[in-house]
Amino acid sequence: MTSKKRIAILGSTGSIGTNTLDVIRAHPERFEVVALTAAKQVERLAEQCVEFKPRVAVVSDAGSAKKLCELLLAKQVSTQVLYGPDALITAVLESDCDTVMAAIVGAAGLLPTLAAAKAGKRILLANKEALVMSGNLFMDAVRQGGGELLPIDSEHNAIFQCLPVHYSKSPSQHHGVEELWLTASGGPFRNTPIAELSQVTPEQACAHPNWVMGRKISVDSATMMNKGLEVIEAYWLFGLPIEKIQVLIHPQSVVHSMVRYCDGSVIAQMGQPDMRTPIAYGLAWPDRITAGVQSLSLTQQAALNFMEPDLQRFPCLSLAFQAGKQGGTAPVILNAANEIAVAAFLDNALQYLQIPEVVERVLNTTPPSTPSSLEDILEVDAKSRVLATDVIQRLHS
Ligand code: NAD
Ligand code: MG
Repeated sequence: MTSKKRIAILGSTGSIGTNTLDVIRAHPERFEVVALTAAKQVERLAEQCVEFKPRVAVVSDAGSAKKLCELLLAKQVSTQVLYGPDALITAVLESDCDTVMAAIVGAAGLLPTLAAAKAGKRILLANKEALVMSGNLFMDAVRQGGGELLPIDSEHNAIFQCLPVHYSKSPSQHHGVEELWLTASGGPFRNTPIAELSQVTPEQACAHPNWVMGRKISVDSATMMNKGLEVIEAYWLFGLPIEKIQVLIHPQSVVHSMVRYCDGSVIAQMGQPDMRTPIAYGLAWPDRITAGVQSLSLTQQAALNFMEPDLQRFPCLSLAFQAGKQGGTAPVILNAANEIAVAAFLDNALQYLQIPEVVERVLNTTPPSTPSSLEDILEVDAKSRVLATDVIQRLHS
């Protein structure tokens, strides 16, 4: 066996981060953890450092860094502690990692993930918002850096598994692919009467029927903005026009996505709804390793159903399709407004049904442009956040 892979995990205390460590824990002969990062969950990060002894650990602010240093000193762990957004980039570039799990939630993950792309690392991409915001720029950075980009989002990981191995070398040739079918569970409110949706709470929105995930993506799954972001993510990853990317509601979350080919074949990837499967796939690719996931039993499984999404019920999905088709900075605006709206909803400062309202108003008041640099993207992101905050304030007054 060759030398161990050296892994940096951006967002190690989150749902994807802890699942990644769970897979790594079972394969100490294959993987070494060299960097771990978190925003503020210092205690959990300290426990991870004690167990995995990374070279570097990063938190978001000086107070958290001080606390982490104290906890590590007490356990005689010599991990270097850094803090702040730039330190996330340092963790990617100076920890000697060869693989980066990009699992920070939202736009906060963009810069370190982009740095990993430029540096030619193997990127395991969970942080879909980074790609939605910077699509062209990000894919160019991956090509120029010469590293590998492996999707961890279960749908995109499924599609990656269903495509020919040489697909990503020349996606523009399409290799007989006619359509991508992204499956979606429909979330906790798939059958809730629309009249009742104005009253739903963050707790109800975060209670996903099939997947256990962080709070932001759980709300996105309830509104189906998550699927909308995934359509844009698929567009960039696989180079097919948005019109060729279909969304299918599939309440059982067994088929994780499908590829339809020109010869009539449809290839699907199936499995338990457990993120450790795509994470293990990304970590070991092109090998396969155990993921700690129970095997799927189709005979014990209820029928598998598929249906078209109801766009009246899920206006966020329409907004994302609209932004994806517009292109340019429209997905940046969509993502920024959504992050602000979802944070307000989770804070009990916005009603559930007002999430699409905020996103739509911000999209309609900001004409999209063609970004020519990262600075352009960051500027549009910042402006859209201010606008979304204004819209929310006006909804209250
Ligand atoms: P989470 O909220 O559970 O974890 C987020 C992680 O990012 C935490 O470690 C947190 O400390 C860190 N973080 C948050 N804000 C930060 C900031 N400003 N600066 C630095 N670090 C910050 O989220 P999650 O569910 O693990 O999702 C992570 C990403 O993976 C998201 O982009 C999500 O869309 C994507 N994803 C998640 C799942 C899932 O099953 N959870 C599935 C597919 C894709
Ligand atoms: Mg997904």
